[in-house]
Amino acid sequence: MYELYKDSNGNVPCYPGYYRRAEQKLKREQRKLSLMQKGSENRNKQRIKVAILHEKVANQRKDFLHKQSRQIATVYDCVCIENLAMQAMSQALHFGKSVFDNGWGMFTTFLQYKLEELGKKLIKVGKFFASSQICSCCGYKNTETKNLSIRAWDCPNCGTYHDRDVNAAINIRNEGMRLVFA
Ligand SMILES: [Zn+2]
Repeated sequence: MYELYKDSNGNVPCYPGYYRRAEQKLKREQRKLSLMQKGSENRNKQRIKVAILHEKVANQRKDFLHKQSRQIATVYDCVCIENLAMQAMSQALHFGKSVFDNGWGMFTTFLQYKLEELGKKLIKVGKFFASSQICSCCGYKNTETKNLSIRAWDCPNCGTYHDRDVNAAINIRNEGMRLVFA
């Protein structure tokens, strides 16, 4: 939950420690609130406490996502991402408008406008593209990796060892570049 993404270079930016602690605290205080008697003075006080914490967490998160997206937009001329149906996914899992997702949607929104401001590009590669099944070295399609619990695999064709997400990121980059130059 605290990893924002993995990129094709193997970078895994994570939310900073102070954010994780604030989010854990928010969860604890929300749980406390849910156990308090409705209409009680304590519950009212707790509600305000939770609201303040909630805003703090939301702001820290936004700051982090702005910083990360700014950094990437500065360094790269073109960024390729998988166009995950995050909205559909979060609705199905009832995460709705919760702050407890990893901020991917907000991050890609920031990234897109920051890139465009600099005359650069965000390329979205369709979800139908089987990025985690294709060996980024030889192109072999390994359907066993459909299983999400497989975090790493050796290509049965060329023997290359793959971190699932890094291999997928390399495929997304290659597919994005193919689309750009097609
Ligand atoms: Zn291979």
